[in-house]
Amino acid sequence: MSAADSRTENLGAAVSTAEQTTAAQAGAVTPTFDSLDPASGDVVGTHPVFSAAQVDETVARARAAAQWWGALSFEERGERLKQWRGVIARRMAQLADISHLETGKPTSDAQLEIVMMLDHLAWAAGNARKVLGRKKVRTGVMAADLGASVEYLPLGVIGVIGPWNFPVFTPMGSIAYALAAGNAVVFKPSEFTPGVGKWLVDAFAQVVPEHPVLQLVTGLGETGAALCRSGVDKIAFTGSTNTGKKVMAACAETLTPVLIEAGGKDVLLVDADADLDAAAEAAVWGGLSNAGQACIGTERVYVHEHVYDEFVAKLTDLAKNLRAGDDPEAQIGPMTMPSQPRVVADHITDALSRGARALVGGLGAVGERLVQPTVLVDVPEDSIAMTEETFGPTLAVNKVRDMDEAVTLANNSRYGLGAAVFAKQRGQELARRIRSGMTGVNLVYLFAALPDLPFGGVGDSGFGRIHGPDGLKEFTYAKSIAHRRLPPLLALTTFARTAKIDKLMATLTVLRHG
Ligand code: NDP
Repeated sequence: MSAADSRTENLGAAVSTAEQTTAAQAGAVTPTFDSLDPASGDVVGTHPVFSAAQVDETVARARAAAQWWGALSFEERGERLKQWRGVIARRMAQLADISHLETGKPTSDAQLEIVMMLDHLAWAAGNARKVLGRKKVRTGVMAADLGASVEYLPLGVIGVIGPWNFPVFTPMGSIAYALAAGNAVVFKPSEFTPGVGKWLVDAFAQVVPEHPVLQLVTGLGETGAALCRSGVDKIAFTGSTNTGKKVMAACAETLTPVLIEAGGKDVLLVDADADLDAAAEAAVWGGLSNAGQACIGTERVYVHEHVYDEFVAKLTDLAKNLRAGDDPEAQIGPMTMPSQPRVVADHITDALSRGARALVGGLGAVGERLVQPTVLVDVPEDSIAMTEETFGPTLAVNKVRDMDEAVTLANNSRYGLGAAVFAKQRGQELARRIRSGMTGVNLVYLFAALPDLPFGGVGDSGFGRIHGPDGLKEFTYAKSIAHRRLPPLLALTTFARTAKIDKLMATLTVLRHG
């Protein structure tokens, strides 16, 4: 039985949301679903499908836990997060194994994701007071009799909905920062990676046993939808743009704020003076690692005509030597979702039928679960390989006259998540002109690893930011306090205000602004 069949069979046995709720209320057995090894279809784990009622109960428990967690000092929370970090670091191999089994990605890639995540966890805990703690603010000359301060208080309970492609790094970009800011979290991992989510939550419970500050709700899309409607104080969603729209619509019903980290169609620009070896190396990693299943994966490459042939020769040499497989030597794992190879095949077919050429791979590269690298050139700009997120190990490479054309084509996308520029002279300038949340100059991916840097997109890639100071503030509200420290210099907010004061105020206003 294939992975897809096995999953469907199991879910077929599960019942609808309404039935689950009734069943849960009647004390009946909760339906379950399996997470599967994408390479073999073997069952990796079995998890409950949380009904809407069970999600609501979980959020109610989280609300009580949030009171306790939010009342701790930054240092007390920081100490617990440090212990959690220690547990994860010491048992990293265990977590990497589960991630490998559920996603199919090579274990070493799974480990890299954990390593990068731990730096964020450390940063969020270590910087929470500095970013969010109470600070005095200036009141200005006209209000010198007043004092003022601002601090950033936790929202309460955050619902985190995560994807499967980076099942540790991506949701932890929200979870770590939300916890460090003093919130409780209810985490709904993807149905493809519930085991990874459970492992993280269980490890947290070991260092915070007193209250359920971080809880797990597992299930399918309906469980995520129930979390959106559960009355949480914010939803942090990472996933596809289409699901993001559904999440936002559900959250709108209760005016629940949302953070949307959605898909991308990232570009890599290669200027005439670029280090072509470095650019080709980055393009294959950016486009083909994790089997191309990355929100900040390189999908489009624009190369200056002066170096196009040389770059393409280097790129194809590297790409030809990469292999997708389920053995330990393969650099690329199987596709995690059984439906994704079809999407990749459609994109390749569409591009080829409109005149593109495959220098590596092509339609024959797409197997049932294993998809070998594909490099397409001369790809029409209106083909879906250039306009839609492919999410597979393919690169679409086009020649440009100059870098102005490259920037125009790069920005001709509804997405705007990450990007990369390879250039010696104009790297920073070109990077700033690309409409994307993050751009690497002579690098790919690494902006995501720097905890000080905000991460997020524009357009169909979403809004809001994880990571860095913005990522901490995302899970708080600004609390402003103004207080009187001296008798009023000008008594303005009183019915006893005199004509003399009005005149003085008018004179001062003209002096200051006129
Ligand atoms: P999906 O949009 O399919 O799912 C994301 C999450 O939403 C899953 O947990 C899913 O649950 C849940 N979900 C599904 N339907 C609903 C619903 N109606 N209401 C609430 N939640 C729901 O994305 P994928 O998991 O396939 O992830 C891949 C996508 O994520 C790509 O587009 C990628 O670019 C994007 N991504 C973006 C990142 C960023 O930082 N911008 C980072 C990583 C990935 P279930 O799986 O159970 O259906």
